[in-house]
Amino acid sequence: MISKKMLDLGTKRSVIRDIFEYGNKLAKEIGAENVLDFSLGNPSTPAPREVANTIKYMVEGLSPKDYNSYTSSAGDTDTRLEVAKNLNKRFSTDYTDKNIFMTCGASASLNIIFKAIIESDDEIIVNIPYFPEYKVFIEGQGGKPVFAKCSENLCLDISEIENKINENTKAILINSPNNPSGVIYPKENLSALTELLERKQNEYSHPIFLISDEPYRELVFTDEKPEFLPNLYNNTLVAYSWSKSLSLPGERIGYILVPNKVKNHEDVFATVGGAARVLGHVCAPSMFQYVVKSCVDVEPNIGVYRTNRNILFKELLKMGYTVANPDGAFYMFIKSPNNDGYDFCERAKKYHMLLVPGEGFGMKEYVRLSFCVETKKIEKSIDVFKKIISEYDG
Ligand code: PLP
Repeated sequence: MISKKMLDLGTKRSVIRDIFEYGNKLAKEIGAENVLDFSLGNPSTPAPREVANTIKYMVEGLSPKDYNSYTSSAGDTDTRLEVAKNLNKRFSTDYTDKNIFMTCGASASLNIIFKAIIESDDEIIVNIPYFPEYKVFIEGQGGKPVFAKCSENLCLDISEIENKINENTKAILINSPNNPSGVIYPKENLSALTELLERKQNEYSHPIFLISDEPYRELVFTDEKPEFLPNLYNNTLVAYSWSKSLSLPGERIGYILVPNKVKNHEDVFATVGGAARVLGHVCAPSMFQYVVKSCVDVEPNIGVYRTNRNILFKELLKMGYTVANPDGAFYMFIKSPNNDGYDFCERAKKYHMLLVPGEGFGMKEYVRLSFCVETKKIEKSIDVFKKIISEYDG
């Protein structure tokens, strides 16, 4: 027999992927320029020049053995040192290679972390709205996701989280800047969370990890940068990825940060290694470890995302839509005027505009729009949004 659970995961595809495939089909029928496909978070900005330059240098100047070989399972030491140095510069920390475990992107980082920390009956608190794959990852690694609703402004609802914590709580997962909302949790909100976690760790006499999933850390449109959570709470594990910041989603490269301040950090780091081993994660792609070693200080180019965000946010507010504050990432979370995200998506489809219903993110009243697209598509969408809101008014 085969695993029914895996069969289900392999056949019931994600809603986002379904819409994306529908968009591809529609593009063949009516031309890609006529489809306003805002479904997927695939960066539209190409990877910075430095990435191609590094690859050219590797391929032309080095022996393939230098960039195609296995690295140690935690990653190439020089790469890990460069990543640590970059974090130290930006966040006044003192990390070394021994704090960094290179992975195949944030999905791998999260699965490895969950595999490393989850024992039977363990619960992981997930804040709504959330990246839908969290549920798959946590359940896949034997844990139970426990969903906590958010506050009115889509930030963390501390008393809701407090109600969800019990002695089985192993970790709480945070994603800021957030997919799907673009919201950046403010410092007071995060400090209230870390105070709560300190109190609960003492009450239950075991660590409660704060897992910070931060593939959008550098995609920020305000002067206020997202808090660096390890500086607020000792038992923080960071899952990072260059999928979005360097526009490398197909190359699969990221890391897990295990700071020295994590309780028993050496054991936790070794457990991460054990979990990666069991999951068949032999090492992160060595070519792209080489790339990030050279490009770790390159700033992402967020110019188009900023333009798209500014145009659309202003216009949607003017039309009377309720939109979460999109201060980071490249998503907007828009409330359907009749609180039915599916209905809104169906109406948008009639105008060949593809959005994702909010239900998969835990909020069925909303739809998610990815604005990592050409600006002309955002401009074209303005009329469509006007037409849709007038349908509700009429
Ligand atoms: N976490 C969040 C919040 C995401 O939005 C994504 C991808 O869209 C991931 C994790 C997975 O990223 P990666 O491509 O690095 O696996």
